[in-house]
Amino acid sequence: MSEKLKPCPFCGGEAIIETFPDPSEKTKWNEPYYVACKGCGTYKNDFATEELAMADWNRRSADAELLEAVIAGQETLQKALAEEKTKNQRLLEGRDYSKELLDKQLERNRGMQNKIHELRAEVRMLEEINRQMSSLAGDTP
Ligand SMILES: [Zn+2]
Repeated sequence: MSEKLKPCPFCGGEAIIETFPDPSEKTKWNEPYYVACKGCGTYKNDFATEELAMADWNRRSADAELLEAVIAGQETLQKALAEEKTKNQRLLEGRDYSKELLDKQLERNRGMQNKIHELRAEVRMLEEINRQMSSLAGDTP
C-alpha cells in the first residue's frame, strides 16, 4: 500500500482495506476488495483491486471535506450577514433618532417664525397707532 487511506468521511475514524479470504463469500459481491471504517462500520465494497478501493474511499473523503468546507463557509457568511443586519438596524435606529431630532427642531423653528410674524404684526399695529396719534397731535393746535 503506497498511498494512505483517508479517515472515514462520516465519523473521522480509521479505515482499512480488506479482502474476503473465502472465495465463497465473493459470490455476494463481484469483487473481493472493500474498505471499512473501524469507527462506525461504514464500508464501501465491490472493488477489483486495493488501488481502486482506496481511490474511491479517498475521493468520498475528499467530497466530505469539500462539503464540510462549504458548510463552514456558509456559516461564516451567515454570521457576517447577521452582523451586517445588526449594524444596519443600528444605523436605521440612529437615522430614526436623527430624524426625530430634526423634526423637533423644525417644529421649534416654525414656532419661532410664527412668533416673529406675530411680533411684526404687533410692531406694524403700534406704528399705525403712533402715526394716527401723531396726526391727531398735529391737527390739534
Ligand atoms: Zn466511520
